[in-house]
Amino acid sequence: MTGITKAPSSSAPIRSSLIQQLLEQQLEDLRDCREGEVADYIPELAKANPEDFGIVLATADGRVYAVGDWEKTFTIQSISKPFMYGLALSLLSPSFMEKKVGVEPSGDAFNAISLDPRTGIPRNPMINAGAIATAAQVWRHDPGRAEALTLEFFSTLAGRPLAVNESVYESERASGHRNRAISHLLRNAAVIEEEPEPGLDLYFRQCSIGVTCRDLAVMAATLACQGRNPLTQDEPLNPAITTRMLAVMGSCGMYDYAGQWLYDVGMPAKSGVGGGVLAVVPGRLGIAVYSPRLDAFGNSVRGIATCRRLSQALELHLFDQTPLQQSPVRSTYKGTERRSRRWRSTAEAEVIDPLRSQIKVLHAQGVLDFAALENVLGSIEQAATDGAVIILDLGQVSELPAASKALLQRQAELLQTAGKQLLLCRSSHLELPAALSRKKFTYASLDLALEAAEDLLLEISCGEESAGEGSAGEGSAALAAPQKGTPTDVGLLGLLAPLAADLREAITERLELRQYAAGTLVMGRQQESDQLFLVASGRFSIFLPILRPEAPSRLARMATFSEGMVFGDAAFFSGELRMADVVADTDGSCWLLQRSAFEELQEDNPAAAIALLTQLAIDLGRKVALCGQQLTLVEDL
Ligand code: GLN
Repeated sequence: MTGITKAPSSSAPIRSSLIQQLLEQQLEDLRDCREGEVADYIPELAKANPEDFGIVLATADGRVYAVGDWEKTFTIQSISKPFMYGLALSLLSPSFMEKKVGVEPSGDAFNAISLDPRTGIPRNPMINAGAIATAAQVWRHDPGRAEALTLEFFSTLAGRPLAVNESVYESERASGHRNRAISHLLRNAAVIEEEPEPGLDLYFRQCSIGVTCRDLAVMAATLACQGRNPLTQDEPLNPAITTRMLAVMGSCGMYDYAGQWLYDVGMPAKSGVGGGVLAVVPGRLGIAVYSPRLDAFGNSVRGIATCRRLSQALELHLFDQTPLQQSPVRSTYKGTERRSRRWRSTAEAEVIDPLRSQIKVLHAQGVLDFAALENVLGSIEQAATDGAVIILDLGQVSELPAASKALLQRQAELLQTAGKQLLLCRSSHLELPAALSRKKFTYASLDLALEAAEDLLLEISCGEESAGEGSAGEGSAALAAPQKGTPTDVGLLGLLAPLAADLREAITERLELRQYAAGTLVMGRQQESDQLFLVASGRFSIFLPILRPEAPSRLARMATFSEGMVFGDAAFFSGELRMADVVADTDGSCWLLQRSAFEELQEDNPAAAIALLTQLAIDLGRKVALCGQQLTLVEDL
């Protein structure tokens, strides 16, 4: 497997005790703060213990830090508003909801009995007027199931079943005259089309859902993860709707205090009169605080203080963004520095070698969001000024957002119109769209991409007819069509060609021709090594196992041989068991020299045997040099 390896989801997340201590310290530091009053305008809320104090931080990768009274249940109250708004956006569409509720901060108290005089609708879904209008729309969408839908949705956000606190609900309903007045105002303005009571009732019930501080933190983390619960992996919301919810929380979530909050704390957030505060660091984490004493705006005093302190201590302010530190292009080099493991015949090498500098390799890394991708695109264009084939290795890229995928695709098309090629490799973890992940464009390894790039160089210089024909496998093009070998042909192959005719003859008459269908295992590891192979036609790849301490060993391509090249020589001479597997990549054939035939040759024609050994020694020398080159690259990994 290439790319980013994630810990298996079943394993317990590893948490830092330091962060746990840091939260405990907050608890400690703020416990003496006893400002504010517990809400009593809803009689049941007045029963809360003013001393309760819990803090929970939940990360986007599913770790939860909980301190103090994090298990105590209280009612969600207004923190339900952004979620109900999200549910309405999901069920009814943003364009519909925009006609019912605005997204402007109000400047009024959360329970103001007023509409926006300009639009005639509530200013935003975070004040009671907007929230009641939102609940009414959810109710109207499915009167029979609205409450069940709501509870199911909230439970998925929290990752556990939630329920309505019936006594708080009763208390709200009995004392909610102001909210009832608001609902009638909405009915009068035709924001609510039917009887206002059922929508209002749903609002009272949503506010009375019982939650713990931990539930709220998980809900916040779900918003931080674009609507995916990082603990359960459920996706109750989609990213576009989550963005809208966070935007409204950012501008209106803390009522009249929203501006100062954004200035000081810099996180989209929502508070409730039950004493909860929930804040989101998008893409990173969710924070929840529970402490029932409220300030004049109806926000938890300790809740605000905790968020402010955490924001400062951990530098979580949304507008405090560190500029791109790490270059998204880890390294760049030319094809002269690194070649594929496809060993080229002299004829092919003569064509490819002078052109190798036209291959450019770029290794990208990290999250390729717009800012990082812009940098990568610049590097690609730079590479294309004197390069013909650009390989972009995405193996170390952890994320490629949709907008970046589209830009990358556009870049590939632009290069193509300029007669250049962009090849991608090691991108399977990024789920590229079809246009980017098609064959001949995307490769499983850098090695295969390099081979394809070399083939492209051959095509460029030799023209269509000499390349591509008869090729099989990803991006491979054989220079010569497979030959029907006969003993007379063999003398012209590779290492035998330089020999005098009589010596050559003495060798070739001892060779036997074998045909192999594509995919055949020609020789296997741990086998006896009684033959030497001289490739007559087709392509043959050598695979060696890579031993990995924590994972099953995997076979890696060591080299691919074609016409005129020899394999099996190392073990043939050492007499040891085979070290590698050799597989026929295409249909092909090899001339075989059996050990017995070689021994005969040594007896009958020592001069021919020495000539053969000399050629094999030269060949082995070249291989050692190439292996050395490949080894130096390992240092780079
Ligand atoms: N249910 C409460 C109300 O309507 C919610 C208010 C709040 O939490 N700010 O007054």
